[in-house]
Amino acid sequence: STPAAIAAGLSAGARRGLLMKGGVVLEKLGKITTVAFDKTGTLTAGRPVVTDVVSAGRSERDVLSLAAALEKGSSHPLAIAILDRAKNDKAPVPPAFDAQAVAGEGVEGTVGGDPVFLGSPRAAEQRVSLQPEYKAAIAALNAEGKTVSVLLSRGALAGFIAMRDEARPDALQALDELKRAGVRPLMLTGDNRVTAEAIAAKLGIEARAELLPQDKQRIVRELQAQGLRVAKVGDGINDAPALAAADIGIAMGGGTDVALETADAAVLHGRVRDVPNMIVLSKSVMRNIH
Ligand code: ADP
Ligand code: MG
Repeated sequence: STPAAIAAGLSAGARRGLLMKGGVVLEKLGKITTVAFDKTGTLTAGRPVVTDVVSAGRSERDVLSLAAALEKGSSHPLAIAILDRAKNDKAPVPPAFDAQAVAGEGVEGTVGGDPVFLGSPRAAEQRVSLQPEYKAAIAALNAEGKTVSVLLSRGALAGFIAMRDEARPDALQALDELKRAGVRPLMLTGDNRVTAEAIAAKLGIEARAELLPQDKQRIVRELQAQGLRVAKVGDGINDAPALAAADIGIAMGGGTDVALETADAAVLHGRVRDVPNMIVLSKSVMRNIH
């Protein structure tokens, strides 16, 4: 009977680390037409490495120290990269007060009595104006596929930090498998457009960049309004609204508890290839029923 075939599909998935929260989820996955992927931590490994610390107003060491101070309590992949670099360089990490994440923009707080902000160039430019030579330096780093976070202190530019986050080794193959299954992949990211396009070009995927969490949710809804059935894959950091709006939200293994709670499905081993695997499995179960 139909429920038995679905139950068998669910347990076949579970044995391979493809967690679907019930038969309705499997049925919907079988009808997905579009998969929107988050970039950081989903299509990329989410383990960025600091490549450049650039002084602009404050010394390199201060830039690293102030950034690390802000990031100490953060679980964002960029925070982990900055804290690793500070530890490696033995840069002091002073205490930060009231440090808080600004979703999709960065993190802000008070260090040594001064207000400090670290975040995307776009968010930084909403707070101060950046001189053309610094904009050009940031754009050059972006063109190399690096993500840049800008540090502001005392209401002025202090410096910036560039990080590189490589695509997951199985991402290219995973996207090809989706396309072969007739499903269109799409990258949604809060990162800079130039950086996003450098990575998207390598992966052969369309990218929408410089998105805030609510923009990702809006794009999911726009695709649905075109009659598309959309799955959203993310690690949950800043992604909960889009995961919830999608027909199916898929959490990448190793993601946050928020993602696992909000999601309808999860790939537990953190392999991006498990996303097409789960969709192909669901499609074949549904084909055998009808
Ligand atoms: P993504 O969509 O790729 O997961 P996010 O929405 O998490 O990206 O972040 C968007 C951008 O905001 C980052 O590329 C970075 O420039 C900045 N940003 C966000 N959080 C942080 C943070 N904790 N530290 C530094 N920069 C951050
Ligand atoms: Mg993210």
